[in-house]
Amino acid sequence: MAVEGACLCGRVRFEITGPLLNADHCHCSQCRRQHGAAFSTYADCRPEDFKWISGEDHVKRYETLSGAGWCFCKECGSTLAGSDKGEINSVTLGTLAGDPGIKPESHIFVGSKAQWYDIADDLPQFEERPRDSSKARGKNC
Ligand SMILES: [Zn+2]
Ligand SMILES: [Zn+2]
Repeated sequence: MAVEGACLCGRVRFEITGPLLNADHCHCSQCRRQHGAAFSTYADCRPEDFKWISGEDHVKRYETLSGAGWCFCKECGSTLAGSDKGEINSVTLGTLAGDPGIKPESHIFVGSKAQWYDIADDLPQFEERPRDSSKARGKNC
């Protein structure tokens, strides 16, 4: 069953028709700035499973030199998805409707987390991205 997402103003809508994988909270400084928050929450998706349903012309992509990028609505600012060299490879859980069938499994890049934020749950914490896991693929930070 497809999972749908939308931006704050509703112009941009998207769906993911395959499984969401590897959900986590990322505390890296790029995510904190991109989201204006203590951390971002993303899950991976396969590029072929992601589709813009409407408003793709309102999507702006900000890319770093490495080709990693964040896709957001240029009208309302909602961060919707992560990309690598132009391919969507992750989505923000906060923009999805209903139950996406996955919950965050860990905190990553805790080594650069905001000093004013204390993690208060029991999920595993990693200083950076765990090297030995599937989480090494498909993420931007
Ligand atoms: Zn919008
Ligand atoms: Zn990050």
